[in-house]
Amino acid sequence: MRRFINSGIVKSITLFFFLLAPAICFSWGVTGHRVVGEIAQRHLSKKAKKELQKLIGMESLSSWSNWADFIKSDTTHTWDHVSKWHYVNLPGNLAKEDFLSSLQNLKVENLYSQIKALTVELKDKSLPLEKRQIALRLLIHFIGDLHQPLHVGREADLGGNRVKVSWFDKQTNLHSVWDSDIVEFQQYSYSEYANNLNIANATDIKNWQESSLEEWFYESYVLANKVYASVPADGKLGYKYNYIFKSDLDMQLLKGGLRLAQVLNEALK
Ligand SMILES: [Zn+2]
Repeated sequence: MRRFINSGIVKSITLFFFLLAPAICFSWGVTGHRVVGEIAQRHLSKKAKKELQKLIGMESLSSWSNWADFIKSDTTHTWDHVSKWHYVNLPGNLAKEDFLSSLQNLKVENLYSQIKALTVELKDKSLPLEKRQIALRLLIHFIGDLHQPLHVGREADLGGNRVKVSWFDKQTNLHSVWDSDIVEFQQYSYSEYANNLNIANATDIKNWQESSLEEWFYESYVLANKVYASVPADGKLGYKYNYIFKSDLDMQLLKGGLRLAQVLNEALK
């Protein structure tokens, strides 16, 4: 009897994770966020580095980059309100002007509204140190999230979380493929990945950094539309998918890092 109950519990737990797993994947996995943090670290101004030290000490942007995901497991519910700051949902295939006006007129807190609010907090030296440190931790993460195209995805499928696909032999969902599977497939450590990406020329870097926050969102959105349109009917993703999207993936990680540096250089001058 006892054995029977235990196996029943195990089955329920397994089923629970099967059902829930797709719904709890919410951003670039640990590697992607660390790549963004590491690239940013290499593009900080002297002044920003100095100011940053007061906030982060000897730690690095990459080591702080995943905190915003870890706090989702905080059982005190202190951070529950932050979970909807990781993404923004908009209808697909909007024209640019419609996208921009929709983005700017959303009534709920979201990735776009909070990046702006947190940047203001980070800049404000009259705020307590701890408040600015939290703003920094979240910003490091959210500038990364904004470059994961499915964080600028569609509400109906929770940014691809409900789009079932396979990644080679594994059953997963489209959002998870972009968070982790395709990143891990490259088989780099985060610092190796950052080394490989960090070879852009000064003109490109300047152009990518100096475009507006709204442009950054629009780029992710355009890529998200391509990602949605590129799911094959059988949902099978593998070598060919990697071949199609590898350069987009790399570009998003690189731009994420360069733009995080830009945001910090501006906020901490
Ligand atoms: Zn996130």
